Amino acid sequence: MPLYEYLCENGHKFDRYLKLANYKDEQTCDCGASTRKLISTPMIAPMFEDYESPIDGRPITSKQKRLDDMARNDCVPYEVGIVEENTKKLKTAEDKLERDIDRTVDYSIAQMPTKQREKLEQELKHTNIEFVRK
Ligand SMILES: [Zn+2]
Repeated sequence: MPLYEYLCENGHKFDRYLKLANYKDEQTCDCGASTRKLISTPMIAPMFEDYESPIDGRPITSKQKRLDDMARNDCVPYEVGIVEENTKKLKTAEDKLERDIDRTVDYSIAQMPTKQREKLEQELKHTNIEFVRK
């Protein structure tokens, strides 16, 4: 929708979005005075299409509601490179988790009473699990 600029008889300047079909309609200022359209290049605002939040189903009817919805659901607007960056972060976190699990398992086995540890080693011999101590 194009944005038009108006000046009222009392000197108030304001902008108003109008559909192209209505651009000739008389516009009244908030003060009640009649207006004239200023000659300027109309700015074209991208149309906002209403949708339901894919997360909680709330109706999203404006850019502000979209930003609120994203903030409420811990989302960020898409930026170039964000997927690659998050993939890298996720890989780093998974590697750390893997190391932590290995360390915890090693520690738990080391803390076992000798008899229990030997039993576990016997059980693992009969599986296809390779038991590697680093
Ligand atoms: Zn006015």
